[in-house]
Amino acid sequence: GQCVAVCPTGALVEVDNVPKVWDLLENKKKTVVVQVAPAVRVALGELFGLAPGTIVTGKMVSALKTLGFDFVFDTDFAADLTIMEEAHELIERVTEGTNLPILTSCCPAWVKFFEHQFPDLLNIPSTCKSPHEMFGAVTKTYLASKLGLKREDMVVVSVMPCVAKKYEAARPELESKGLQDVDVVITTRELGRMIKEAGIDFLSLHDEDYDDPLGRSTGAAVIFGATGGVIEAALRTAAETITGKPLESVEFVEVRGMQGLREAKVEIGELGLNIAVAHGLGNARKLLESIRKGESKYHAIEIMACPGGCVGGGGQPYHHGDLEIIKKRTRGIYEIDRSMEIRKSHENPAIKEIYENFLGEPGSHLAHELLHTTYFERSK
Ligand code: SF4
Repeated sequence: GQCVAVCPTGALVEVDNVPKVWDLLENKKKTVVVQVAPAVRVALGELFGLAPGTIVTGKMVSALKTLGFDFVFDTDFAADLTIMEEAHELIERVTEGTNLPILTSCCPAWVKFFEHQFPDLLNIPSTCKSPHEMFGAVTKTYLASKLGLKREDMVVVSVMPCVAKKYEAARPELESKGLQDVDVVITTRELGRMIKEAGIDFLSLHDEDYDDPLGRSTGAAVIFGATGGVIEAALRTAAETITGKPLESVEFVEVRGMQGLREAKVEIGELGLNIAVAHGLGNARKLLESIRKGESKYHAIEIMACPGGCVGGGGQPYHHGDLEIIKKRTRGIYEIDRSMEIRKSHENPAIKEIYENFLGEPGSHLAHELLHTTYFERSK
């Protein structure tokens, strides 16, 4: 049934990728790069007895280095990159009045859902690849040449709160210059298992920092882990790009919360943007049906398949739909955002550098080649 098609809940029997990652870590010919999604750092601790929402970023990085990954980077860097591309796309479409509303495209369960159910609307999702896929693309191009590494020998492992990311990584079009962007996806639960199998005493690890440069990120990136976060991050960058002035407050609290369907009108300079946020595919369907009928007033819509967004993902420690657990993880996410020195994607120095030295401008030819994708009708 539907679960086989989209299964954001993890009820589907999933492929165990742990043995594959152990083999890669033993293969000395490969440079094994790992990246970790935002939502993992507020949930992994639960597998070691910590309360939901406990922030374990430093211990998690330390554990990944102990496991033997050659580089430990942050999907948050690529979330900032996604915002640069997606805010550019949003501004362009709103200015031209075409292909609206723009729909976020970072949730593969959601992408698969609209390809199956709404193939007549394939022109409106953002063409941005999801952050971990963008990460893979720049690792095997930009980073490879920066570090003088053979791109064929590089392997990208993603640690994700998500089961759907496993089939996303296998989509043939998610490749760059002949190499698949992401090679293996493991879930938060699988990382927990690896740490235990290696006999690492997680709770006594000292905090370590991500490696440079793909480990640098902002508060805008980490909020990708919670429902409403992607659109809030995009608004932070779009607003400053449109007005040319710094925001008085970076917090767009009107798009936050746990209601399944939310809407907000956001004023940016002269522009009034109608925003909607949905989590859960039933809520998404309602929005899509009104778009199909031509009745939608929105400019941009964020959709996540899981309750609460990725914090409630199917690859996370089991939460059995307990909203209190999901809310605690969400609080952890916003706490990290508040603690970050930089909270806007366009101010990330590593992002400025990759555009200056490699990509050019958001929406450039190279950015399109590496960071954007296409969708397919799958209803037949
Ligand atoms: Fe995966 Fe996040 Fe989408 Fe859930 S909401 S299916 S965890 S990307």
